[in-house]
Amino acid sequence: GVKRSGRNGWQFFTKNMQIDSEKRHLLSTQLVTAIDKQEFSVYYQPIVDLTDNRVSKCEALVRWFRAGKQIPTDEFITLAEETGRINEIDRFVLATASEQLIALSQRLNYAISLSINVSPRVFSSKDDSLDRWLALITKASEQLDITVEITERLLIEESDRIMWVLTKLKSLGITIAIDDFGTGYSSLSYLTKFPIDIIKIDQSFIKKLGQEKIPEALTETMIDLSHKLNLEVVAEGIETLEQLNYLRHWQCDYGQGYYFNKPLPTASFIQLIEQEQRHRYT
Ligand code: C2E
Ligand code: MG
Ligand code: MG
Ligand code: MG
Repeated sequence: GVKRSGRNGWQFFTKNMQIDSEKRHLLSTQLVTAIDKQEFSVYYQPIVDLTDNRVSKCEALVRWFRAGKQIPTDEFITLAEETGRINEIDRFVLATASEQLIALSQRLNYAISLSINVSPRVFSSKDDSLDRWLALITKASEQLDITVEITERLLIEESDRIMWVLTKLKSLGITIAIDDFGTGYSSLSYLTKFPIDIIKIDQSFIKKLGQEKIPEALTETMIDLSHKLNLEVVAEGIETLEQLNYLRHWQCDYGQGYYFNKPLPTASFIQLIEQEQRHRYT
């Protein structure tokens, strides 16, 4: 929508940027007890290897159901980052997802990698959040192939602490991905400075494939650039076969989006992997 802003005149905003203050206050109060009340759960969205169509990774995405209603994830993540609850949520998601995926991959003998989001907040936490998150991910990485998704925003800071953590994650065999690639800052120097393995092209580009020339050219260029730098590419938000065909043509490595699957609750995700397994190995 369009909103009248005080100093700068008319500005665009997206639904995740602004929620009214009354609702914010109520939500932030409810957020405090949501973990204890077990209102959070983890959904899984398949990530498909475009060379063989196999579901080789999945992204864990947090969901908040309160009194039968789902609170939009972007809304409460923003709020949790402002109020400091985010680190607790990230720990919950990491612990839950790694436990469920370790069980799944062992029971079905199906290799699958877990992609997990982490808030930039954990890297600058003043309490023991970073240590606790590192302890959890270290343990999980012993039994599971893990990708950590970070945003470009984090790398702009170029802090020693961030470099130290990323280097530590690499030493554990963890893969590092840049989420929402292309939406942040124009400096690309961080791609070679930091130990990055994967870029995830933001869905705003993918939506325009077949419709607008500039996002199309940018997507092709991002894929080329990544491959030249020995990085792999995931395209986010694929909704149509046409979009997928463009991406295949440009040799994009992985795809994620409603065209394949929406994020699924654990039981449905397990069913999907069981089907995949039967289909491929029997
Ligand atoms: P993200 O990490 O970029 O995740 C991808 C988002 O795109 C998800 O939204 C997913 O449901 C949505 N999506 C996937 N495919 C399609 C598609 O084909 N079309 C459309 N329209 N949307 C698609 P979701 O689950 O609402 O999450 C929003 C954001 O919240 C995430 O964006 C991530 O930044 C954040 N988030 C989610 N879970 C966590 C978490 O556990 N920890 C942290 N720190 N952030 C999280
Ligand atoms: Mg993500
Ligand atoms: Mg993303
Ligand atoms: Mg996003």
